[in-house]
Amino acid sequence: MERIKCLIIGSGPAGYTAAIYAARADLKPVVYTGMEPGGQLTTTTEVDNFPGYPKGVDGPSMMVELQQQAERFGTEVRIGHVTEVNLSKEVGGIHTAVVDGTTTIEAETVIISTGASAKYLGLPSEQRLRGGGVSACAVCDGFFYKGQEVAIVGAGDTAAEEATYLANICTKVTMLVRRDVMRASKAMQHRVNNTENIEVLYNTEVDEVLGEQVVEGLRMVNNVTQEKSEIPITGLFIAIGHQPNTDIFKGQLTMDDAGYLITEGKSTKTNLPGVFASGDVQDKEYRQAVTAAGTGCMAALDAERYLGSLGAH
Ligand code: NDP
Repeated sequence: MERIKCLIIGSGPAGYTAAIYAARADLKPVVYTGMEPGGQLTTTTEVDNFPGYPKGVDGPSMMVELQQQAERFGTEVRIGHVTEVNLSKEVGGIHTAVVDGTTTIEAETVIISTGASAKYLGLPSEQRLRGGGVSACAVCDGFFYKGQEVAIVGAGDTAAEEATYLANICTKVTMLVRRDVMRASKAMQHRVNNTENIEVLYNTEVDEVLGEQVVEGLRMVNNVTQEKSEIPITGLFIAIGHQPNTDIFKGQLTMDDAGYLITEGKSTKTNLPGVFASGDVQDKEYRQAVTAAGTGCMAALDAERYLGSLGAH
């Protein structure tokens, strides 16, 4: 069976940054890309907030460059989805991972960078217009709707935060809340209610996203009266939460109630020796490419130090 020093699961900014550092530290990392090679950034268009790109960069190109940078130092990038893991509880123990349900690989260290996936409503019109005006990230895409009217779905802290963010850029933000109350903290609700160009519609859900190639409007339904109404918008932001991709680690790694991996203090250490977590899979707070990359770097340094402490590296 193949045995490697460092297995990196996931190929977003966290996974590839971990790979760059691990490869340069001679850990000969192997990255398994997962089902969405390049991660969430491959679903966005322009990335304007990653330092070092004064003119911006499109998400997919940035991920190709990150991959090339990781490969330049000897990272092996393999297309494959890790479907099962058996993580050792022993210091110096060997972890195993099954790829695509068939190949088993052994690793001295594992860096988990499987990310999180934004939840969507699941309406066919919403899915069809993803990338054509439907987005799950206001910080990433809000700028494209400067001076325009947009809507946002959700009532948690993310939705409230994104609504106020969008209100600074857009002329009007309509916020659709499915219940008669918001889940967001009182402070965040206060901010929303005190922002003039945000209109909150309670008991309101999306019935249909309107438009063929791009979003042109929204048909909404009041779930109490069943009354339908339409508004013209060019952007629809879905902020109904994220789902960390941690199913395969359940029962082995410590997670919070929402399934995010818990790391120790300021490190990327999980509850098991030699297993580290970086990026959105352990961060429900910031969720930015640059913060994911930062923790990817930390995970590789933690893995290197762990192997060093064993005298294995
Ligand atoms: P949450 O799970 O807290 O909220 C999701 C929201 O989406 C809820 O209001 C929910 O409605 C709504 N929703 C879910 N499904 C649907 C649907 N199908 N149609 C319409 N609405 C739907 O997720 P968040 O991303 O907002 O937050 C995640 C965590 O991160 C929270 O713990 C939050 O506090 C934290 N956070 C903190 C921030 C801060 O402190 N600055 C900023 C951002 C996040 P309902 O209420 O009816 O269930």
